[in-house]
Amino acid sequence: MVKIEKPTTGGKLPLTKPVIGVAGKTGLWRFMKPVVDVNKCTRCYQCEIYCPVNTIRVEPETGAVINYDYCKGCGLCMDVCPVGAITMVPEVGE
Ligand code: SF4
Ligand code: SF4
Repeated sequence: MVKIEKPTTGGKLPLTKPVIGVAGKTGLWRFMKPVVDVNKCTRCYQCEIYCPVNTIRVEPETGAVINYDYCKGCGLCMDVCPVGAITMVPEVGE
């Protein structure tokens, strides 16, 4: 039988945070774009925490703001938003 060791981190989750821009300008990968309705945004920080490229900043004054240079359009922020404040829309070419 495999023995499962107790975590040694004092009960804290071993979270890591990606570094913005570490994979280059991943905004070029995007074909769907997240759009935030700041009037619905409750500033809960879920999207900022879960964005895999760390490209969302939530501020009390602005709500969630996305840096589209790095947003790769994965849609995770829309999935985790508890109030449906983020919608994915087709990316329009320049
Ligand atoms: S779609 Fe949302 S979660 Fe995905 S990279 Fe863009 S901002 Fe981050
Ligand atoms: S998850 Fe939704 S409600 Fe929460 S900060 Fe992001 S956009 Fe706002």
